[in-house]
Amino acid sequence: MIEVMVRPKKRLFIALILVSLSLAALSTYGLWMVSFPGLANISAYLPFILGGLLAAVILVIAFGVIGIIFAILGFPTLGVFQGPAWSAVNLLFPMAICLGKLFDVDKERVERSFIEVSNHLIRQKNIKVSPDKLLVLTPHCIQQESCPYKITRDVANCHKCGNCQVGELITITNTYGVKLAIVTGGTLARKVIKTYRPQAVLAIACERDLTSGIQDVFPLPVIGVLNDRPYGPCCNTRVDMQCVEKAIRDFIKA
Ligand code: SF4
Repeated sequence: MIEVMVRPKKRLFIALILVSLSLAALSTYGLWMVSFPGLANISAYLPFILGGLLAAVILVIAFGVIGIIFAILGFPTLGVFQGPAWSAVNLLFPMAICLGKLFDVDKERVERSFIEVSNHLIRQKNIKVSPDKLLVLTPHCIQQESCPYKITRDVANCHKCGNCQVGELITITNTYGVKLAIVTGGTLARKVIKTYRPQAVLAIACERDLTSGIQDVFPLPVIGVLNDRPYGPCCNTRVDMQCVEKAIRDFIKA
């Protein structure tokens, strides 16, 4: 099956997150109302203590969501917003996916929108690292399926035959002096990050892996580049090399 990539819109994710936040606030209020009489029987203060705690949690999440929207609109945001913003995304993201399903919005579209939002926020911070502190991470499905060389163990095993883009990735990362790792899955990706200790990551992957990866490694800045899948998922995938090169240039100090 050939997959056609549709350019994602940031507003889809923002709209779903806002609706999720409203639903979370409403259901929290409903829960508090239901538990009110029972708690009041134990102590007259208890419902208000619980109410205050729940309101504080919802307010922190709301601040996070507002922080994301302000940052997207180009307003300067305080660093203090970043923690709550990502916690809010982690909490509300599953709800946003469910809501998307309700409105017949494909999960991958929501994930693409999330990646677009995340990339936008990272780019706005104008993060610059030295080349050796930037890690380019890509899944091994980018390797030609029939290639006999074990590039996940060592990318230098690639013979640069031109049958897949691994050779090009090696050349481009060598040119800029950045690290390259090709991994078989999320566990190995996390291990590589622990070993290399990069200050920024350029991750190439599908919607699902990029979404979970970006959330997993927060606060490490990650720019996500979606792969192309002309032969379907996890098989002979490709990537737009110009996008990769541009992301490398954006991240490294001149
Ligand atoms: S470019 Fe490298 S990894 Fe890709 S098929 Fe050729 S030898 Fe294998």
